[in-house]
Amino acid sequence: MTNSPIYVTRPVLPSLSEILPFLERIWGSRILTNSGPLLQQFEANLASYLGVEHLTVVCNASLGLVLALRLYGITGEVITSPFSFVATCHAIRWAGAKPVFADIDPHTLNLDPAAVEAAITPQTQAIMAVHCYGVPCDTEGLADVARRHGLRLIYDAAHAFGVRKGGQPVVAQGDLSVISFHATKVFNCFEGGAIVAPDLETKQALDRLANYGIVDEVTITDVGLNTKMSELHAAVGLALLPRMNEIIAARDDIANRYWQALAQIPGIHCLCPPGQPGHNSYAFPIRVGQDYQLSRDGLYNKLREHGIHARRYFYPLISDLPAYRDLPSARPEGLAFARPAAEEILCLPLYPDLPAADQDRIIDIISRPC
Ligand SMILES: *Cc1c(COP(=O)(O)O)cnc(C)c1O
Repeated sequence: MTNSPIYVTRPVLPSLSEILPFLERIWGSRILTNSGPLLQQFEANLASYLGVEHLTVVCNASLGLVLALRLYGITGEVITSPFSFVATCHAIRWAGAKPVFADIDPHTLNLDPAAVEAAITPQTQAIMAVHCYGVPCDTEGLADVARRHGLRLIYDAAHAFGVRKGGQPVVAQGDLSVISFHATKVFNCFEGGAIVAPDLETKQALDRLANYGIVDEVTITDVGLNTKMSELHAAVGLALLPRMNEIIAARDDIANRYWQALAQIPGIHCLCPPGQPGHNSYAFPIRVGQDYQLSRDGLYNKLREHGIHARRYFYPLISDLPAYRDLPSARPEGLAFARPAAEEILCLPLYPDLPAADQDRIIDIISRPC
Protein backbone atom coordinates (compact mmCIF):
# COMPACT_ATOMS: atom_id res chain seq x y z
CA MET A 1 0.00 0.00 0.00
CA THR A 2 1.36 3.40 -1.01
CA ASN A 3 0.49 6.77 0.38
CA SER A 4 1.55 8.79 -2.63
CA PRO A 5 -1.14 10.96 -4.18
CA ILE A 6 -3.69 9.27 -6.43
CA TYR A 7 -4.97 11.42 -9.26
CA VAL A 8 -8.23 11.02 -11.12
CA THR A 9 -6.33 9.73 -14.12
CA ARG A 10 -2.85 8.77 -15.24
CA PRO A 11 -1.99 8.68 -18.93
CA VAL A 12 -1.05 5.45 -20.67
CA LEU A 13 2.11 5.48 -22.78
CA PRO A 14 3.51 3.13 -25.38
CA SER A 15 6.77 1.56 -24.24
CA LEU A 16 9.94 3.23 -25.53
CA SER A 17 10.69 0.15 -27.62
CA GLU A 18 7.24 0.42 -29.23
CA ILE A 19 7.73 4.05 -30.19
CA LEU A 20 11.40 3.98 -31.22
CA PRO A 21 10.84 2.51 -34.72
CA PHE A 22 8.44 5.36 -35.50
CA LEU A 23 10.92 7.96 -34.24
CA GLU A 24 13.62 6.41 -36.42
CA ARG A 25 11.36 6.87 -39.43
CA ILE A 26 10.84 10.55 -38.59
CA TRP A 27 14.57 11.14 -38.10
CA GLY A 28 15.23 9.30 -41.37
CA SER A 29 12.67 11.19 -43.47
CA ARG A 30 12.94 14.58 -41.75
CA ILE A 31 9.26 15.01 -42.45
CA LEU A 32 7.97 16.52 -39.22
CA THR A 33 4.43 17.65 -40.04
CA ASN A 34 2.05 18.68 -42.89
CA SER A 35 0.27 15.35 -43.33
CA GLY A 36 3.43 13.26 -43.37
CA PRO A 37 3.59 9.49 -43.79
CA LEU A 38 3.01 8.71 -40.09
CA LEU A 39 -0.01 11.00 -39.91
CA GLN A 40 -1.49 9.33 -42.98
CA GLN A 41 -0.86 5.87 -41.57
CA PHE A 42 -2.30 6.97 -38.22
CA GLU A 43 -5.48 8.24 -39.89
CA ALA A 44 -5.90 4.95 -41.73
CA ASN A 45 -5.23 2.76 -38.66
CA LEU A 46 -7.47 4.91 -36.48
CA ALA A 47 -10.37 4.82 -38.95
CA SER A 48 -10.04 1.06 -39.12
CA TYR A 49 -9.90 0.67 -35.31
CA LEU A 50 -12.93 2.93 -34.82
CA GLY A 51 -14.88 1.32 -37.65
CA VAL A 52 -15.41 4.51 -39.65
CA GLU A 53 -14.44 5.43 -43.22
CA HIS A 54 -13.27 9.02 -43.05
CA LEU A 55 -11.64 11.16 -40.41
CA THR A 56 -9.30 14.13 -40.12
CA VAL A 57 -6.75 14.01 -37.32
CA VAL A 58 -6.15 17.39 -35.65
CA CYS A 59 -3.95 18.83 -32.89
CA ASN A 60 -6.71 18.83 -30.27
CA ALA A 61 -10.46 18.37 -29.97
CA SER A 62 -11.19 21.98 -28.99
CA LEU A 63 -9.97 23.26 -32.35
CA GLY A 64 -11.62 20.25 -33.99
CA LEU A 65 -14.97 21.52 -32.67
CA VAL A 66 -14.21 25.02 -33.98
CA LEU A 67 -13.41 23.58 -37.43
CA ALA A 68 -16.60 21.50 -37.39
CA LEU A 69 -18.72 24.62 -36.86
CA ARG A 70 -16.68 26.64 -39.38
CA LEU A 71 -17.14 23.95 -42.01
CA TYR A 72 -20.88 24.57 -42.01
CA GLY A 73 -20.52 28.34 -41.57
CA ILE A 74 -22.44 28.26 -38.30
CA THR A 75 -22.58 31.69 -36.64
CA GLY A 76 -26.14 31.59 -35.29
CA GLU A 77 -27.41 29.81 -32.20
CA VAL A 78 -26.00 26.43 -31.21
CA ILE A 79 -27.91 24.46 -28.59
CA THR A 80 -25.56 22.70 -26.20
CA SER A 81 -25.19 21.10 -22.78
CA PRO A 82 -24.15 23.10 -19.71
CA PHE A 83 -22.92 19.84 -18.15
CA SER A 84 -19.60 19.42 -19.96
CA PHE A 85 -16.01 20.55 -20.02
CA VAL A 86 -15.71 24.27 -20.84
CA ALA A 87 -14.12 23.50 -24.24
CA THR A 88 -17.53 22.53 -25.66
CA CYS A 89 -18.97 26.00 -25.18
CA HIS A 90 -15.73 27.91 -25.76
CA ALA A 91 -15.50 26.26 -29.20
CA ILE A 92 -18.94 27.63 -30.09
CA ARG A 93 -17.79 31.14 -29.14
CA TRP A 94 -14.45 30.80 -30.98
CA ALA A 95 -16.36 29.81 -34.12
CA GLY A 96 -18.30 33.07 -33.77
CA ALA A 97 -21.59 31.37 -32.90
CA LYS A 98 -23.94 31.79 -29.94
CA PRO A 99 -24.32 29.06 -27.31
CA VAL A 100 -27.80 28.31 -25.99
CA PHE A 101 -28.07 25.92 -23.05
CA ALA A 102 -30.67 23.19 -22.82
CA ASP A 103 -31.26 20.77 -19.95
CA ILE A 104 -29.93 17.24 -19.67
CA ASP A 105 -31.54 13.88 -19.13
CA PRO A 106 -31.22 13.02 -15.41
CA HIS A 107 -30.13 9.43 -16.15
CA THR A 108 -27.54 9.84 -18.93
CA LEU A 109 -26.59 13.45 -18.05
CA ASN A 110 -26.60 14.09 -21.81
CA LEU A 111 -28.71 16.66 -23.69
CA ASP A 112 -32.42 15.88 -23.56
CA PRO A 113 -33.88 16.00 -27.12
CA ALA A 114 -37.18 17.45 -25.81
CA ALA A 115 -35.30 20.27 -24.02
CA VAL A 116 -33.31 20.88 -27.21
CA GLU A 117 -36.48 21.13 -29.26
CA ALA A 118 -38.00 23.60 -26.78
CA ALA A 119 -34.90 25.83 -27.11
CA ILE A 120 -35.08 26.14 -30.90
CA THR A 121 -35.63 29.66 -32.32
CA PRO A 122 -35.48 30.98 -35.90
CA GLN A 123 -31.76 31.71 -35.23
CA THR A 124 -30.87 28.13 -34.30
CA GLN A 125 -28.45 26.49 -36.74
CA ALA A 126 -26.95 23.55 -34.90
CA ILE A 127 -26.97 21.22 -31.92
CA MET A 128 -23.71 20.41 -30.19
CA ALA A 129 -24.27 17.39 -27.95
CA VAL A 130 -21.75 15.67 -25.67
CA HIS A 131 -21.47 11.93 -24.98
CA CYS A 132 -20.65 12.62 -21.35
CA TYR A 133 -18.28 9.99 -19.82
CA GLY A 134 -18.56 8.09 -23.11
CA VAL A 135 -22.22 7.29 -22.37
CA PRO A 136 -24.00 7.66 -25.73
CA CYS A 137 -26.55 10.43 -26.18
CA ASP A 138 -30.09 9.69 -27.31
CA THR A 139 -28.72 9.79 -30.86
CA GLU A 140 -32.06 8.83 -32.47
CA GLY A 141 -33.95 11.53 -30.55
CA LEU A 142 -31.39 14.21 -31.37
CA ALA A 143 -31.20 13.17 -35.04
CA ASP A 144 -34.98 13.38 -35.23
CA VAL A 145 -35.06 16.92 -33.80
CA ALA A 146 -32.19 18.00 -36.08
CA ARG A 147 -33.87 16.56 -39.18
CA ARG A 148 -37.29 18.05 -38.47
CA HIS A 149 -35.84 21.52 -37.89
CA GLY A 150 -33.08 21.45 -40.52
CA LEU A 151 -30.26 21.77 -37.96
CA ARG A 152 -26.69 20.49 -38.09
CA LEU A 153 -25.88 17.92 -35.40
CA ILE A 154 -22.30 17.97 -34.17
CA TYR A 155 -21.11 15.68 -31.41
CA ASP A 156 -18.45 16.56 -28.88
CA ALA A 157 -17.28 12.94 -28.69
CA ALA A 158 -14.19 13.86 -26.65
CA HIS A 159 -14.96 10.99 -24.22
CA ALA A 160 -16.31 8.51 -26.74
CA PHE A 161 -13.20 6.84 -28.18
CA GLY A 162 -14.17 3.33 -29.27
CA VAL A 163 -17.72 3.57 -27.90
CA ARG A 164 -20.37 1.57 -29.76
CA LYS A 165 -24.14 1.78 -29.61
CA GLY A 166 -26.16 -1.07 -31.05
CA GLY A 167 -22.89 -2.46 -32.38
CA GLN A 168 -22.17 0.70 -34.41
CA PRO A 169 -19.48 3.29 -33.62
CA VAL A 170 -21.21 6.19 -31.88
CA VAL A 171 -18.76 8.62 -33.55
CA ALA A 172 -20.41 7.83 -36.89
CA GLN A 173 -23.58 9.59 -35.64
CA GLY A 174 -24.56 13.14 -36.56
CA ASP A 175 -22.98 15.34 -39.22
CA LEU A 176 -19.56 15.31 -37.51
CA SER A 177 -18.09 13.92 -34.29
CA VAL A 178 -14.96 15.20 -32.60
CA ILE A 179 -12.86 12.88 -30.42
CA SER A 180 -10.08 14.02 -28.05
CA PHE A 181 -6.68 12.37 -27.69
CA HIS A 182 -5.62 14.59 -24.80
CA ALA A 183 -3.39 12.99 -22.17
CA THR A 184 -6.36 12.50 -19.81
CA LYS A 185 -8.60 10.69 -22.27
CA VAL A 186 -9.05 6.95 -22.95
CA PHE A 187 -6.62 7.08 -25.89
CA ASN A 188 -3.96 9.78 -26.03
CA CYS A 189 -1.28 11.24 -28.32
CA PHE A 190 -0.15 13.65 -25.55
CA GLU A 191 -2.43 16.16 -27.35
CA GLY A 192 -4.62 15.43 -30.33
CA GLY A 193 -8.05 14.75 -31.72
CA ALA A 194 -9.99 13.62 -34.75
CA ILE A 195 -13.07 14.78 -36.62
CA VAL A 196 -15.10 11.89 -38.02
CA ALA A 197 -16.62 12.86 -41.37
CA PRO A 198 -19.46 11.21 -43.32
CA ASP A 199 -17.69 11.17 -46.72
CA LEU A 200 -14.38 11.83 -48.45
CA GLU A 201 -15.43 15.24 -49.72
CA THR A 202 -16.17 16.44 -46.18
CA LYS A 203 -12.89 14.98 -44.90
CA GLN A 204 -10.97 16.83 -47.62
CA ALA A 205 -12.76 20.09 -46.78
CA LEU A 206 -11.77 19.59 -43.12
CA ASP A 207 -8.17 18.81 -44.17
CA ARG A 208 -8.07 22.14 -46.01
CA LEU A 209 -9.55 24.07 -43.08
CA ALA A 210 -6.94 22.42 -40.83
CA ASN A 211 -4.17 23.68 -43.14
CA TYR A 212 -4.91 27.40 -43.62
CA GLY A 213 -7.48 26.69 -46.35
CA ILE A 214 -4.72 25.76 -48.78
CA VAL A 215 -5.78 23.78 -51.85
CA ASP A 216 -2.50 24.00 -53.77
CA GLU A 217 0.48 26.33 -54.10
CA VAL A 218 -1.54 29.17 -55.55
CA THR A 219 -5.08 28.38 -54.43
CA ILE A 220 -6.34 29.22 -50.94
CA THR A 221 -10.10 29.00 -50.79
CA ASP A 222 -11.04 29.27 -47.11
CA VAL A 223 -9.98 31.23 -44.04
CA GLY A 224 -8.43 28.12 -42.54
CA LEU A 225 -6.50 27.61 -39.36
CA ASN A 226 -3.45 25.54 -38.47
CA THR A 227 -4.80 22.59 -36.52
CA LYS A 228 -2.48 19.93 -37.93
CA MET A 229 -1.03 17.10 -35.85
CA SER A 230 2.76 16.64 -35.98
CA GLU A 231 4.51 13.41 -36.95
CA LEU A 232 5.76 13.08 -33.37
CA HIS A 233 2.23 13.02 -32.00
CA ALA A 234 1.12 10.65 -34.75
CA ALA A 235 3.98 8.33 -33.74
CA VAL A 236 2.59 8.15 -30.20
CA GLY A 237 -0.84 7.34 -31.59
CA LEU A 238 0.46 4.66 -33.94
CA ALA A 239 2.43 3.00 -31.16
CA LEU A 240 -0.46 3.06 -28.66
CA LEU A 241 -3.35 2.09 -30.92
CA PRO A 242 -2.60 -1.66 -31.02
CA ARG A 243 -2.90 -1.76 -27.20
CA MET A 244 -6.31 -0.12 -26.95
CA ASN A 245 -8.45 -3.25 -26.55
CA GLU A 246 -6.28 -4.35 -23.66
CA ILE A 247 -6.32 -0.84 -22.14
CA ILE A 248 -10.11 -0.54 -22.30
CA ALA A 249 -10.50 -4.04 -20.82
CA ALA A 250 -8.27 -3.00 -17.90
CA ARG A 251 -10.41 0.13 -17.39
CA ASP A 252 -13.53 -2.09 -17.37
CA ASP A 253 -12.00 -4.21 -14.59
CA ILE A 254 -11.38 -1.16 -12.40
CA ALA A 255 -14.92 0.12 -13.04
CA ASN A 256 -16.31 -3.32 -12.15
CA ARG A 257 -14.45 -3.35 -8.86
CA TYR A 258 -15.82 0.07 -7.94
CA TRP A 259 -19.32 -1.03 -8.85
CA GLN A 260 -19.15 -4.20 -6.76
CA ALA A 261 -17.89 -2.25 -3.74
CA LEU A 262 -19.93 0.96 -3.95
CA ALA A 263 -23.27 0.32 -5.64
CA GLN A 264 -24.91 -0.83 -2.38
CA ILE A 265 -23.81 2.11 -0.23
CA PRO A 266 -26.79 4.30 0.73
CA GLY A 267 -26.55 7.69 -0.95
CA ILE A 268 -23.88 6.68 -3.45
CA HIS A 269 -25.32 6.40 -6.93
CA CYS A 270 -22.98 4.88 -9.50
CA LEU A 271 -23.84 6.30 -12.91
CA CYS A 272 -22.23 3.93 -15.39
CA PRO A 273 -23.10 0.28 -14.73
CA PRO A 274 -20.22 -1.91 -15.91
CA GLY A 275 -20.53 -4.57 -18.56
CA GLN A 276 -22.45 -2.33 -20.98
CA PRO A 277 -21.46 -3.59 -24.42
CA GLY A 278 -19.43 -1.04 -26.35
CA HIS A 279 -18.66 1.19 -23.37
CA ASN A 280 -15.09 2.45 -22.81
CA SER A 281 -15.07 2.96 -18.99
CA TYR A 282 -13.69 6.46 -19.48
CA ALA A 283 -14.74 7.51 -15.99
CA PHE A 284 -16.37 6.29 -12.81
CA PRO A 285 -18.82 9.05 -11.92
CA ILE A 286 -20.87 8.82 -8.73
CA ARG A 287 -23.61 11.06 -7.41
CA VAL A 288 -23.43 11.77 -3.72
CA GLY A 289 -27.05 11.97 -2.59
CA GLN A 290 -28.78 13.42 0.49
CA ASP A 291 -28.81 10.03 2.21
CA TYR A 292 -25.01 9.71 2.25
CA GLN A 293 -23.13 10.58 5.44
CA LEU A 294 -21.26 13.48 3.84
CA SER A 295 -22.07 16.09 1.24
CA ARG A 296 -20.39 15.76 -2.16
CA ASP A 297 -17.83 18.40 -1.17
CA GLY A 298 -17.44 16.71 2.22
CA LEU A 299 -16.48 13.46 0.50
CA TYR A 300 -14.28 15.29 -2.01
CA ASN A 301 -12.37 16.95 0.87
CA LYS A 302 -12.19 13.74 2.91
CA LEU A 303 -10.59 11.96 -0.05
CA ARG A 304 -8.16 14.85 -0.53
CA GLU A 305 -7.06 14.60 3.11
CA HIS A 306 -5.92 11.10 2.16
CA GLY A 307 -4.13 12.26 -0.99
CA ILE A 308 -6.90 11.05 -3.30
CA HIS A 309 -7.76 13.58 -5.97
CA ALA A 310 -11.25 12.77 -7.20
CA ARG A 311 -12.65 15.45 -9.51
CA ARG A 312 -16.01 17.22 -9.69
CA TYR A 313 -16.63 16.67 -13.40
CA PHE A 314 -18.62 18.70 -14.26
CA TYR A 315 -18.87 21.46 -11.71
CA PRO A 316 -19.51 24.33 -11.94
CA LEU A 317 -21.94 24.17 -14.83
CA ILE A 318 -20.60 26.00 -17.91
CA SER A 319 -23.71 28.16 -17.70
CA ASP A 320 -22.53 29.45 -14.30
CA LEU A 321 -19.16 30.69 -15.60
CA PRO A 322 -18.66 34.46 -15.95
CA ALA A 323 -18.49 34.23 -19.76
CA TYR A 324 -21.92 32.59 -20.03
CA ARG A 325 -23.99 33.22 -16.89
CA ASP A 326 -25.74 36.28 -18.29
CA LEU A 327 -27.24 34.36 -21.22
CA PRO A 328 -31.02 33.96 -20.91
CA SER A 329 -30.61 30.19 -21.32
CA ALA A 330 -28.24 30.10 -18.31
CA ARG A 331 -31.11 30.80 -15.90
CA PRO A 332 -31.38 27.99 -13.34
CA GLU A 333 -35.12 27.43 -13.94
CA GLY A 334 -34.37 26.02 -17.37
CA LEU A 335 -31.66 23.65 -16.09
CA ALA A 336 -33.58 21.71 -13.46
CA PHE A 337 -31.63 18.45 -13.97
CA ALA A 338 -28.21 19.89 -14.84
CA ARG A 339 -28.00 21.91 -11.63
CA PRO A 340 -28.34 19.06 -9.08
CA ALA A 341 -26.10 16.86 -11.24
CA ALA A 342 -23.30 19.44 -10.98
CA GLU A 343 -23.84 19.68 -7.19
CA GLU A 344 -23.69 15.92 -6.59
CA ILE A 345 -21.19 14.62 -9.12
CA LEU A 346 -17.78 13.19 -8.30
CA CYS A 347 -15.48 11.22 -10.63
CA LEU A 348 -13.29 8.67 -8.90
CA PRO A 349 -9.71 7.84 -9.96
CA LEU A 350 -9.76 5.41 -12.87
CA TYR A 351 -6.88 4.38 -15.09
CA PRO A 352 -5.81 1.00 -16.43
CA ASP A 353 -2.91 0.44 -14.01
CA LEU A 354 -4.55 1.82 -10.86
CA PRO A 355 -3.14 -0.59 -8.25
CA ALA A 356 -5.74 -2.69 -6.43
CA ALA A 357 -4.35 -1.53 -3.08
CA ASP A 358 -4.89 2.10 -4.06
CA GLN A 359 -8.41 1.37 -5.24
CA ASP A 360 -9.09 -0.36 -1.92
CA ARG A 361 -7.99 2.78 -0.07
CA ILE A 362 -10.48 4.82 -2.07
CA ILE A 363 -13.27 2.29 -1.52
CA ASP A 364 -12.55 2.10 2.23
CA ILE A 365 -12.87 5.84 2.66
CA ILE A 366 -16.13 6.03 0.73
CA SER A 367 -17.52 3.03 2.65
CA ARG A 368 -16.53 4.41 6.05
CA PRO A 369 -16.10 8.18 5.70
CA CYS A 370 -16.63 9.07 9.36
C1 LIG B 1 -11.21 17.09 -23.08
C2 LIG B 1 -12.48 17.62 -23.62
C3 LIG B 1 -12.50 18.51 -24.70
C4 LIG B 1 -11.27 19.13 -25.25
O1 LIG B 1 -10.39 18.24 -25.81
P1 LIG B 1 -8.90 18.72 -26.14
O2 LIG B 1 -8.39 17.65 -27.04
O3 LIG B 1 -8.17 18.78 -24.83
O4 LIG B 1 -8.98 20.05 -26.79
C5 LIG B 1 -13.73 18.87 -25.22
N1 LIG B 1 -14.88 18.41 -24.68
C6 LIG B 1 -14.90 17.58 -23.64
C7 LIG B 1 -16.21 17.09 -23.13
C8 LIG B 1 -13.70 17.18 -23.05
O5 LIG B 1 -13.73 16.38 -21.96
